[in-house]
Amino acid sequence: MDLIFRNVRIDDANPLMDVAVHNGKITHIAQAITATASQEIQGNGNVLVPGFVEAHLHLEKANVMQRKANRSGTLAEAIAVTAALKPTLTRDDIRERSVQVLRALVQAGTTHVRAHAEFDPAQGFTGLDVVLELRETLRDVIDIQVVAFPQEGILKLPGMKAMMVEAMERGVDVVGGIPYNDVSPLEHIDFVFDLAQRYGKDIDLHQDFADDAEHMTIEYVAAGPSPRATKGASASAT
Ligand SMILES: [Zn+2]
Repeated sequence: MDLIFRNVRIDDANPLMDVAVHNGKITHIAQAITATASQEIQGNGNVLVPGFVEAHLHLEKANVMQRKANRSGTLAEAIAVTAALKPTLTRDDIRERSVQVLRALVQAGTTHVRAHAEFDPAQGFTGLDVVLELRETLRDVIDIQVVAFPQEGILKLPGMKAMMVEAMERGVDVVGGIPYNDVSPLEHIDFVFDLAQRYGKDIDLHQDFADDAEHMTIEYVAAGPSPRATKGASASAT
């Protein structure tokens, strides 16, 4: 065995248990496991739960509220405040705040994070590169999945399509998108699907943030990539 947790609580209905782990998998749960392991952790009756998953995080934009607050609390002001701060975010600054957040997550029991790391022609790859670097340096502490996130759109920024491809080449794990913040949401979605298929990656979209139900594109996303090969009718009707 690689690891045994001793005397941990799995649920209230059962007595304290030992839980054995080998090759990254739970292999045995019993009241008193006689085998020994290279690492043993005494639970002392505390609850044993799987690590938490933080499924949506923007590391490079975290912990900036004290610099410029969003006084109205609206999405519009949040975007405006972030846009104003972006040019001031340096590599060291981004790394320092990202580590602060990751440390807090680990202390709270989080073991997996999906981080949307944004980039664009104006700010370059500074934030993305820091998050990719942290994914490697903190690999033994927390699993970080990096999403290529085009916060300012793809089609409306000259050079952004190439940057999305470059982000994949730099080793991101997931293709991100933000259809509502682009000149053609459907073309935006098509580009994201094409890129994800090309690199064999998953997709994570910032999808339909508007307060009303007009101009939603979720149905187009739900249709998946195959209808788009013959698109035209459905796309133009939406
Ligand atoms: Zn987000």
